[in-house]
Amino acid sequence: MLQYSRQPLVAGNWKMNKTVSQAHTFVNSLKEAVAEVKNAEIVICPPYTALFSLNQVLKGSNIFLGAQNMYYYEKGAFTGEISPLMLQEAGCRYVILGHSERRIYFGEEDTLVNLKAKAALRTGLTPIICVGEQLADREAGKTEEVVQKQLIGSLVGLEPELCQMVVIAYEPVWAIGTGQNATAIEAQEVGNFIRKLLVNNAGKKGAEKIRLLYGGSIKPDNMADFIKQPDIDGALVGGASLEVTDFSLIIKTVQEVESKCQQLF
Ligand code: PEP
Repeated sequence: MLQYSRQPLVAGNWKMNKTVSQAHTFVNSLKEAVAEVKNAEIVICPPYTALFSLNQVLKGSNIFLGAQNMYYYEKGAFTGEISPLMLQEAGCRYVILGHSERRIYFGEEDTLVNLKAKAALRTGLTPIICVGEQLADREAGKTEEVVQKQLIGSLVGLEPELCQMVVIAYEPVWAIGTGQNATAIEAQEVGNFIRKLLVNNAGKKGAEKIRLLYGGSIKPDNMADFIKQPDIDGALVGGASLEVTDFSLIIKTVQEVESKCQQLF
């Protein structure tokens, strides 16, 4: 059963895909395809180059912008980086932090994710903090240990009021871009484990408010199973967010399951 105090969220992580003109073509179609969606929050996270102009196109729509990463200083000598202030000015509401590709290819660790999360929240951006185990961790029965370490490390020192504003994405690394998703039951088990841990950071009520996403080979035909789980409040979508048809079907599935659940009350 869904938790009604948490608005479902579907975020598309485009990674290093789409030029600005491709991004505009996509967004113009997506706006039309999801114009009627009200019960789910929709976010796209394009490359930085497209943010500013997409913000103009998205004004007045039900689609919000997020960035895929940021640094934690407002400005300064950090060649190649982008600041939370810049993202905010470009129209971002969200920022993905600690994605496994950042951790694996760019050596990001929990301490850095933590600094970024604090800077994002200070600037009014909502961090979508990614946690998840590698295949070897899962096979060694270490899923909870790894997720706990990442979660605690990313949230350390955050006041409960700020902590309850974050979004956590559980993304098993072995399921990202592989077509091999975790089962909805596996995702729920980890989701529930995360929510219990969050009580230490955000208090019991605060932990209930935090949205938990599942990410890893989400497609239109598996979304329903995940969103039906009590601790899964949406999805972080990679590959399938690059196609308007698939992404809008995923969003509509979330909205449909949510509406059906509400009718039961
Ligand atoms: C991701 O990169 O966050 C992701 C979930 O990718 P995919 O949906 O392609 O597995």
